[in-house]
Amino acid sequence: GDKVFADIRTGITNTMTMLNYKIKKGNITVIEEFDENLPPVKAMIGELNQVWTNLIDNATDALENTENPQLTLKTRQDREFVCVSVIDNGPGIPDDIKNKIFDPFFTTKKIGQGTGLGLDVVTRIVKQHKGTISVTSEPGRTEFVVCFPINA
Ligand code: ADP
Ligand code: MG
Repeated sequence: GDKVFADIRTGITNTMTMLNYKIKKGNITVIEEFDENLPPVKAMIGELNQVWTNLIDNATDALENTENPQLTLKTRQDREFVCVSVIDNGPGIPDDIKNKIFDPFFTTKKIGQGTGLGLDVVTRIVKQHKGTISVTSEPGRTEFVVCFPINA
């Protein structure tokens, strides 16, 4: 798609609407901490929404067997970047697979439930936009942070 000035909050809100059924079904408490003054980002809107979808989808999967499941979405500006955090209080990513989760077709999910392509797609979109992605995970807290340049 073409790059336009995209409002991050609108994209996340639309994504949450798309995933509403799964969030409700999982009894997930959603906590939103949006920076009210976040500038728009020059990006391809469809691709951005794919990033939020894949990260939030993974978070809701991770929360499947968690008591008091919580999904936290944060936005902030970091110099010339806009950053989005997707945080869950699920079991975390085991140390021995942390370096594999971005590989295409790597999945720990049952057949039919995961393709292993979600994070590969996210990585490719982030690169395409000259952004960054990082993950920190421990039992009870996993955070993916994606940053996009405001004026790429
Ligand atoms: P898929 O969701 O189809 O398995 P992804 O590329 O989206 O493929 O994710 C790869 C793997 O990374 C998942 O199978 C899971 O093991 C791990 N993972 C991703 N996000 C999380 C998370 N929030 N908490 C725990 N594990 C995660
Ligand atoms: Mg996935």
